Amino acid sequence: MLKVAKFGGSSLADSQQFAQVRRIVQSDPDRMCVVVSAAGKRSKGDSKITDLLYLTQAHRKYGVSYDDIFSLIEQRCYDIRTELGLSFDLESEFSRLRAELKGDIDVDYLVSRGEFITAHLMSEYLGYSFVDAADCIFFNYDGKINYEKTYQAIADAALKTPRFVLPGFYGALPNGRIHTMPRGGSDITGSIAANALDADIYENWTDVSGILMADPKVVSNPKPIPFITYDELRELSYMGASVLQEESILPVKEKNIPLNIRNTNRPEDKGTMILESIDDDSGNQHLLTGIAGRKNFTVLTIYQKHISTDTRIIRKTLEMLQACNVEVQHITLGVDSFNVVVPTSEAGDKIYDIISEIKTELNPDGIKMDDNIALIASVGRRMVSVPGSSARLFGALGANKINIRMIAQGSEEISIIVGVDNKDFERTIRTLYDGFMDGEADYEKA
Ligand code: ASP
Repeated sequence: MLKVAKFGGSSLADSQQFAQVRRIVQSDPDRMCVVVSAAGKRSKGDSKITDLLYLTQAHRKYGVSYDDIFSLIEQRCYDIRTELGLSFDLESEFSRLRAELKGDIDVDYLVSRGEFITAHLMSEYLGYSFVDAADCIFFNYDGKINYEKTYQAIADAALKTPRFVLPGFYGALPNGRIHTMPRGGSDITGSIAANALDADIYENWTDVSGILMADPKVVSNPKPIPFITYDELRELSYMGASVLQEESILPVKEKNIPLNIRNTNRPEDKGTMILESIDDDSGNQHLLTGIAGRKNFTVLTIYQKHISTDTRIIRKTLEMLQACNVEVQHITLGVDSFNVVVPTSEAGDKIYDIISEIKTELNPDGIKMDDNIALIASVGRRMVSVPGSSARLFGALGANKINIRMIAQGSEEISIIVGVDNKDFERTIRTLYDGFMDGEADYEKA
């Protein structure tokens, strides 16, 4: 058995969190590969090391003194080292960095030092080797990961040193220069390592006991989701549930490696297990797996008699949106009209140009725009096999007098998306949660 355990910034925020990580790693000898983010926030008002590094760069760029900010970074690292009795040579690291800061330092290199130093401290503390991501995570010049080369390099590194700590978030370009991933990228590094090592499980340790069935800002104390498929998770993430860095799913999904989200400060909780497929024969389940949504969409309705017999107007509208870089969230087609849903913030004023262009170029029977629409996805792989699921869902909304403005079905029939007025957003989510997930399990296989 081999487990890759990735720890997020809050799990590495100070020496106490380091100690908690060590307890977790040492409690299971299968946790051979440990991937770390940079030390994160210790409390609400605190800063992540990565943010402080970006801030250092911003100050540098505008010629403002960065000395105080950089000292904060140094102090946090020194504190962890002292409190844990470690000896990693931070002095040399920081004096080199300070010298480089005076010259022409590369931003990606600078911000990657958060993970680099955190990983060095952790490797010494665990007694694991340090493997530099610059030596085994490879990017092409276009910024895309060279998976083949990367997988091989990680597998080779593990042969030489089976227990190791790998810093997340960065790798190297073909010329050896450091290149960083998007924010939260350590999730991706962990997933890549799990694939490369054929891990039995990829554990992603964070500060919550798994993915919650709904947003806790809207529903009080939502339950965690015990099991979810990768596809369901994609639907929830698409609709706004931010859980994992999106690109982190692919490497583990490809090899069917389960991804387990765990809480560093409550290791007794089982967290959420994300799997390719789930055997739903075991009872005690809810019909829905999770609910997620986002506010502030604009719906464009274009009227044209028998629109489905001449789809030029649809194609043209979509082309115009694409040309203006406006993401299309959903499309629904009726007999004499079709709707496109776009995020209002992205559409901005461009939407008026698009509307007038559609009018002059395509001369539709009519065109209408509605703002302030919220989209809410009810996601559940079990809905497909249960007749009447959607009737129940719409019934619950109707009984609560929630006016549905639009309906769409997500891919693979695993989600039903409703559009409601922004003002009904919270109420809709609560109605769905109370009706489907709060009480007893309500799913019986048909
Ligand atoms: N430290 C980086 C960030 O704050 C990457 C990560 O934590 O995964 O985004």
